[in-house]
Amino acid sequence: MHEMSLVRSLIRQVDLIAAENGGGSVREVSVEIGPLSGVESELVQSAFDQVIAESHESPMTLTIRETPLVVHCLQCEDDCEIDNFIFRCLRCGSGHVRVIRGDEFRIASITLDERVTHA
Ligand SMILES: [Zn+2]
Repeated sequence: MHEMSLVRSLIRQVDLIAAENGGGSVREVSVEIGPLSGVESELVQSAFDQVIAESHESPMTLTIRETPLVVHCLQCEDDCEIDNFIFRCLRCGSGHVRVIRGDEFRIASITLDERVTHA
């Protein structure tokens, strides 16, 4: 299951960002997953819980936001959100569309623990 390796590198990235921002523990991570990203939200969630349980002392919450699939029409220059992977412009019906959103798997935000530890 490739979600496991994706999640491992995601958490490495999160730890790095936390370290760059003062090294507090991360309370919540919010990610965006698009329908064309090739990853399953449920699998990401369970992989995340597993990796955090194995590697982190404090729990971390994962919030997944599923992003829409958006295409840009090359005919009428309009952008629209499409459903069911039907790659057609909703405005003019043209099939000459280019995907501009929907393949992302990325960190949207990170919430750090407010507690500040002084040496
Ligand atoms: Zn169009």
